[in-house]
Amino acid sequence: MAEIVPPRERVCERCGRHDVWDEGKSSWIIASAEGEKEFGSPYCLHEWDISGTYNPLA
Ligand SMILES: [Zn+2]
Repeated sequence: MAEIVPPRERVCERCGRHDVWDEGKSSWIIASAEGEKEFGSPYCLHEWDISGTYNPLA
């Protein structure tokens, strides 16, 4: 059995949006790279690259 680790970050496969999990806020925040926020496209229906088997509500 592989160890299940909840995702700490996620990347949209369509627009490149990059979020990281903020433990204190219990929410996703937009990641920054080289001083620029990687918020991708506001019109994108984000397709996150995290595992489909992970259910944060479980
Ligand atoms: Zn997207």
